[in-house]
Amino acid sequence: MASVWMVECNVVDRGGAPGSSGIPVGPPPGGGTPTNPLPPTGNPGEDDESNNFCRDNHCIPFPEEEIIKDSSFVGTKADRVYEKLLDLSGGFRKAIQKFDGEFPVAHLKFNVDPLMPDTINATTNNAQKYIIEISINGNTLEQRTTLGLARTMAHEIIHAELFRKVRSVNNQISINDFPEIYDYYIRYLKNWQHEQMAAPYRNLIADIIQEFDNGKNSRQFYMDLAWEGLINTSSWENLSIPEKQRVVNTIIGYKNSGDKSCKL
Ligand SMILES: [Zn+2]
Repeated sequence: MASVWMVECNVVDRGGAPGSSGIPVGPPPGGGTPTNPLPPTGNPGEDDESNNFCRDNHCIPFPEEEIIKDSSFVGTKADRVYEKLLDLSGGFRKAIQKFDGEFPVAHLKFNVDPLMPDTINATTNNAQKYIIEISINGNTLEQRTTLGLARTMAHEIIHAELFRKVRSVNNQISINDFPEIYDYYIRYLKNWQHEQMAAPYRNLIADIIQEFDNGKNSRQFYMDLAWEGLINTSSWENLSIPEKQRVVNTIIGYKNSGDKSCKL
């Protein structure tokens, strides 16, 4: 592996620029229309694929019932990891629901992309109209540890959930609806999602992979693995050098020795 660190994901937000996560926190400049459309209504005549899911101004709620699997995803190692995550008693499924799973503003889709550069584990794309799409790198899939894949899924699901929350208020996050997102956005702008993930949500990523792994390792191990993709954050910068070294050693060690067979 060329680099110690993989990019856990590229985030593609509306506007299409990787890494951007712009949230207008007030009316758009110049009084234009918001960049995010209102949730689909499913009215006759709307030639939109969301009509399949949305009726009478109500869409079938994300999370699990209407998750769309692209044919490139079905039956892959990523799919098997995903299904196991859903089968866990608490973990993944519960984690999704924790983030206000009631807002029917976007559907979640998974695919496997065989053309992604080796240095990227996944992408979460928020640029489509009614779908938030998670692409898993198909190029590196067989080399990934199953636990690392589970972490990637957890990481991307948190991106998707954060985007979904932002969509649920029509991209106009305020301190009144999602104060934590508002706080991170105001403080960190483009990197707000990774900053938020590196702080409160890193525990959640660790919870998910610990459960996935039947708790075979220490809590510290799962917390360390959860750092991947989050080193461009202030939380990472605040770690001491020995702490950073421990995390790096844990991540490299597990990439070399961890189970990649996906016997789930
Ligand atoms: Zn990410």
